[in-house]
Amino acid sequence: MARSAGAKAVPGAHIHDVIIVGGGIAGLSAAWRLRDRDILVLEAGDRPGGRICSVDGDNGVMNFGAHMFGGPGTIVGDLCCALGLSLRPIDAGLMAIALKGRLRLKGRAELLPFLLPLAPAARLSLIKAGLGLRLGSGKAAAMLRRTADEPWPEMTRQRLDFAGAETLAERLGCLHPQAALIIRAITERCGGDPSGISAGHGLRSFANVWSSTSPGFHLVGGSSRLPEALAERLGRRLRLQTPVRHVERGEGSLEVRVDGKGAETVRHFARTVILATPATQTRTIMPALRSSVKAALGEIRYGPFLSVALNTAEQAPGRLERTYAVSTPDSAFGVLFNQSVNRFSLAGHEKGGSLMMFAGAARAEKLMQLGDDEIASRFAGDLRKLLPELIPAGAPVVKRWPLGAPYAFTGRAALQPALTQSLERIALAGDYLEFPNMEAAIRSGNEAADRVLRWL
Ligand SMILES: Cc1cc2nc3c(=O)[nH]c(=O)nc-3n(C[C@H](O)[C@H](O)[C@H](O)COP(=O)(O)OP(=O)(O)OC[C@H]3O[C@@H](n4cnc5c(N)ncnc54)[C@H](O)[C@@H]3O)c2cc1C
Repeated sequence: MARSAGAKAVPGAHIHDVIIVGGGIAGLSAAWRLRDRDILVLEAGDRPGGRICSVDGDNGVMNFGAHMFGGPGTIVGDLCCALGLSLRPIDAGLMAIALKGRLRLKGRAELLPFLLPLAPAARLSLIKAGLGLRLGSGKAAAMLRRTADEPWPEMTRQRLDFAGAETLAERLGCLHPQAALIIRAITERCGGDPSGISAGHGLRSFANVWSSTSPGFHLVGGSSRLPEALAERLGRRLRLQTPVRHVERGEGSLEVRVDGKGAETVRHFARTVILATPATQTRTIMPALRSSVKAALGEIRYGPFLSVALNTAEQAPGRLERTYAVSTPDSAFGVLFNQSVNRFSLAGHEKGGSLMMFAGAARAEKLMQLGDDEIASRFAGDLRKLLPELIPAGAPVVKRWPLGAPYAFTGRAALQPALTQSLERIALAGDYLEFPNMEAAIRSGNEAADRVLRWL
């Protein structure tokens, strides 16, 4: 490995080609692309994957983070295939809804206003909002296709600029409270409430829900198989439980400081650094970033997510067998995801099930003020009311994501030139640079890797 002549590293210290800070999927995919170089990945947590997190439960995989994968032909799908991982089509409904104790599992999204127990004014309001969302999400899908081949900085700017001058609430106009409740339970999946997210962010989320490829694929064995497979291949080049405290430029190298096992500080050196941490951390660990970048990082907004996973012990197909997502606007949680969808029709006829009860945005923020036991008990209680036939196997497990999803707000696109500018020997990565999903996170990691390759 070449050493830079002007490096102010400790004499004799090793200088890596690239240090990647953050072992979420953005950092890991950058590392994968740079695997033939001298790299070091430093991750604060005790497992790789960040917001991709699943564990093996007794009755099926329990999922706490990302769970819907793109298939072959998408960046995330192709990465899974390259690593020899298997994807299974979810092949089930994403638009079921439960309201006032009534569970509607079938029916097209467009028909929901007619199927739900709503006051006539609420029905009308929902029809009007639904039409606007349908039209807008069609435009969002077309915009995504149109921008797909743009260079990354321009692509992300255009995507964030799409319907970015007004909030989703402004776009939808005045809604009947019942209609607003239903819409909010859908938008909370993308991090913010209609009054906080840009119309473009909301419409892009609806485009995902309504697309022909939705709800996509599950990773066989659980979502964590993806970061685990990358971690396995990186071997000792990935260090867990290694929080980076400070990154600083030297003359020919960058210095990365981490806390050692005792009170000492360990210093690592590299010719280039990829900061693949959430925007808030990125700003803190590198105080000497260009002021325009620091200011833009400080503007990024995250919405909280809360997920509660529960194994169940049914021995025969139940009402949810062919339903993946149930929107539950008037429950403690906002969405119920059936992680073991189609389980009884799969080879092997595994028994039991796995559910993920999810809350986002304002609902999650409020719930997060409670202790885990109280959250688990409220969620389990509402689940019992909704599906009394389910047989819980074990206790519900609560996972909090204070930085659940970075969401676009009005004017967000104006920050993009600062965030995507070329910074000498430093590259940023993370979903906050575009949209809160694995596809955008991996794309940003790939882009960061390509940037540092040009500097090496
Ligand atoms: C509940 C939930 C459901 C989701 N569902 C989906 C879905 O179905 N489909 C989809 O595509 N996406 C989904 N997402 C979004 C997806 O998980 C994220 O967009 C993606 O994983 C973000 O990856 P990232 O690498 O940008 O960030 P992160 O995963 O947040 O990774 C950042 C990493 O940096 C580490 N770090 C932070 N500070 C330091 C430091 N000082 N030193 C070292 N390391 C540090 C963190 O520990 C973390 O591992 C979901 C997310 C959540 C929370």
